[in-house]
Amino acid sequence: MKTIGHLINGTAHTGSGRSQDVYNPSTGAVDKQVLLASKATVEEAIAAAQAAFPAWRNTPVQKRARIMFRFKELLEQNAEEICRLIGEEHGKISHDAMGELSRGIENVEYACGAPELLKGEHSKNVGPAIDSWSEFQPLGVVAGITPFNFPAMVPLWMYPMAIVCGNTFVLKPSERDPSSTLFIAELLLEAGLPAGVMNVVNGDKEAVDTLLQDKRVQAVSFVGSTPIAEYIYSQASANGKRCQALGGAKNHAIVMPDADMDNAVSALTGAAFGSSGERCMALSVAVAVGDAAADALVSKMQAQMQSLKVGAFSDSSNDFGPVITKAHQEKVVGFINSAQEQGAEIVVDGRRPTVSGYENGFFVGGTLIDRVTPEMTCYQQEIFGPVLLVVRVDSMQQAMDLIDDHEYGNGTCIFTRDGEAARYFSDNILVGMVGINVPLPVPVAYHSFGGWKRSLFGDLHAYGPDAVRFYTKRKTITQRWPSAGVREGAQFAFPS
Ligand code: NAD
Repeated sequence: MKTIGHLINGTAHTGSGRSQDVYNPSTGAVDKQVLLASKATVEEAIAAAQAAFPAWRNTPVQKRARIMFRFKELLEQNAEEICRLIGEEHGKISHDAMGELSRGIENVEYACGAPELLKGEHSKNVGPAIDSWSEFQPLGVVAGITPFNFPAMVPLWMYPMAIVCGNTFVLKPSERDPSSTLFIAELLLEAGLPAGVMNVVNGDKEAVDTLLQDKRVQAVSFVGSTPIAEYIYSQASANGKRCQALGGAKNHAIVMPDADMDNAVSALTGAAFGSSGERCMALSVAVAVGDAAADALVSKMQAQMQSLKVGAFSDSSNDFGPVITKAHQEKVVGFINSAQEQGAEIVVDGRRPTVSGYENGFFVGGTLIDRVTPEMTCYQQEIFGPVLLVVRVDSMQQAMDLIDDHEYGNGTCIFTRDGEAARYFSDNILVGMVGINVPLPVPVAYHSFGGWKRSLFGDLHAYGPDAVRFYTKRKTITQRWPSAGVREGAQFAFPS
């Protein structure tokens, strides 16, 4: 049985604390244990980060960026191993894991541009012989707390930018699939990062609460479910920390009567069932405008889903793998049961898929549910499984009202050939990331990622330009060097 520990002050660390099983969701077997850091172990990591901060802050930004260039190379060289680790513990098929890693690497590429990104603002002669400038200083020790569903990509949204901006970091990854995250952090040390700048503590609530309460931690980036995001945001704020907490989602796609239906169906299939629907940008609700569009959508989806292949992560011919745990498998099946009990129509039923040779794996097959209404439990809550709901409405405005009324506002998409409708939709919809004939409108690394409403607590979005602002504090300096002999008397009003 392998034990997964922590990375503190540049060395592998076991620390004190409890431990927890790590499953291989494809087989249902437990091959590893992860150590859950105690308060004392987390405090050791914070102390290491605090001690490393003064020297790292004063390391020229170009040298910090060069480490990111080497880190990117190492990520590419070790991509296969990273994807294997993701597959073993998350269940993601290798092509999907590779996609996640590539999007993560794009954030490292963005961090390589830090010398340009951190240039300040300068104004000469703001007054007689007075110059003023703003610079962007690092905060100090920053913490990141991440979810299970992107063990490589989501941490890479955070620490490359935090570190290249001159901060030091303590990461608390998901305890459900911690190996790839830890392995990637070790590559960062191999790239030349000084000890203590990047630390990883595996753990659960005890570790998180320690990070939230410790005065040395200046800021917290969180990605996970909405109830925990709200908790993190309130606790971090109450303790005087800067916080961005990204939460859950229920992403709707509007399918207009004029949509290219074959393209919409292909796009929806990948976006609803890819990664077993365990993506915060998964399209989980299709809102069809008019019965004709709904009937066409449902019958084409049903046909396309016949060829969906669910199975173990190790077979790259599979479209998607298992869900993360047995408990989550039961929860997803429970949502499908509730839809049936509440009057929806199960068109394709994935509750009991047969995956031969993997009878104990946590599989749920692709599921299509028609005639879902907003009162149903399956509509109101995030399912986070390979389940696509179809809601039928009569007009685009009704479809938009549904989206605006939902508690989440992460991503959305419209399938249409009408530019005017698409423009109206993107301009007015209350959602943070919008696709027009693009099912998963995940912003590229040089934009920023974030939802609206209860999908994000805080002001600044993740990665991209917002990350520069989140991980730095503006300082504005006004300077004058009076010439020898020139002396002014006291002034009692603002100079004008
Ligand atoms: P989660 O909220 O259960 O866990 C996220 C992190 O919080 C983990 O590190 C976990 O250890 C910690 N945590 C869990 N319970 C805690 C508690 N009571 N106190 C303190 N810390 C706690 O989320 P998950 O199941 O790992 O991930 C799936 C969720 O994340 C989904 O809701 C998904 O939509 C969301 N997500 C959102 C985004 C986004 O960008 N908005 C991206 C990925 C995932």
